[in-house]
Amino acid sequence: MAHDGFSFLAQELEQLKGQGVYRLPRVVQGRQGARAVIDGREVINLASNNYLGLATHPRLIEAARRAVEAYGVGSGAVRTIVGTQDLHQILEVTLARFKRTEGALVYQSGFTANAGTVAAILGPGDVVVSDELNHASIIDGCRLSRATIKVYPHGDMAGLREKLEEARREVREGGRILVVTDGVFSMDGDIAPLPEIVGLARAYGALTMVDDAHASGVLGDHGRGSVDHWGLHGQVDIQVGTLSKAVGVLGGYVAGSRTLIEYLLHRARPILFSTSHPPAVTAACIEAIRLMEESDELIQRLWANTRFFQAELRALGFDLGPTQTPITPIMVGDERAAMAFSDQLFEEGVFAQGIAYPTVPRGKARVRTIVTAEHTQQDLEEALEALARTGRRLGLIP
Ligand SMILES: *Cc1c(COP(=O)(O)O)cnc(C)c1O
Repeated sequence: MAHDGFSFLAQELEQLKGQGVYRLPRVVQGRQGARAVIDGREVINLASNNYLGLATHPRLIEAARRAVEAYGVGSGAVRTIVGTQDLHQILEVTLARFKRTEGALVYQSGFTANAGTVAAILGPGDVVVSDELNHASIIDGCRLSRATIKVYPHGDMAGLREKLEEARREVREGGRILVVTDGVFSMDGDIAPLPEIVGLARAYGALTMVDDAHASGVLGDHGRGSVDHWGLHGQVDIQVGTLSKAVGVLGGYVAGSRTLIEYLLHRARPILFSTSHPPAVTAACIEAIRLMEESDELIQRLWANTRFFQAELRALGFDLGPTQTPITPIMVGDERAAMAFSDQLFEEGVFAQGIAYPTVPRGKARVRTIVTAEHTQQDLEEALEALARTGRRLGLIP
């Protein structure tokens, strides 16, 4: 037992070990590709959110290299102190064009974009109505805002209506109601029923916010996200996206009206109190969005790989839950069994993370896989063979 005053934490760690869910991240050596060297061995990588393979794309690497040479490696301070770099401005104009909104504001991450935005626009007496499976960063933003929080059962529109009724009764005079949802749910891969959500929000005079972390670069024309997928341009007040997943680099953003963007620039705490992106990151993001605007070839490949992979997994007898997107959870249930599945897959040359409480509810542990545009047919077939062997050994499939 530790003698550093943290014995209470050491006890919790012992508990995790007892539950079979204690683990330190594996070490990735070199590139984050469809195949990667992880803990010293080459494996097929089904763990990343690098949907389009942009994390190692030559055009992004070249853009980052040039930006380092021209600008150096740091941005100096927060934007309201040291100024916005012209690269930040170019990225925001590019994002607004891509998302077909009046403006966009880039944050350091999708996490700070969600948490910082909700906390900036709501306060005590306002009400936020949130899907129970929304991302942790939305939940934290709701808490930070000190607004009243109403949580509706996942994807349940009768439940949403009920919470909106309560919200209308409880909101302070002149206060706001915000309905917030993930566009694609990160652990199940299902798509939020945005038209119904927008319709209900409108009926109750509520604002809407969608977190498109797993929808940008995946859903909609050229990967414009769930608003585009559902044909709802101009009808969702706040679109949040990440630059860390399909876009391949790092960061988050809000796309919406000019008023919203100007307000956030003055009040969102991650913008005011945390340093902006370094030039290499900003330049690589600009190049990624341009590439996505020019061609949807990578997105087509992503979806073709996804359709093949999911059909084969279902044919083998795996339970993939309600997924409608490239997020492909293989349901296991028991936490220890999910971790064992992941460990044995690694021994078979496939890297896919076991996911347990608190990331998903207790008893709903799973191994989450994502194929990317970069995986070859050979990669997918090898991975499927390993999944079949391991799944049979553990009794997950016949
Ligand atoms: C990953 C994720 C985020 C956070 O994005 P980062 O850019 O990694 O900070 C936010 N929301 C959802 C739904 C996510 O899956």
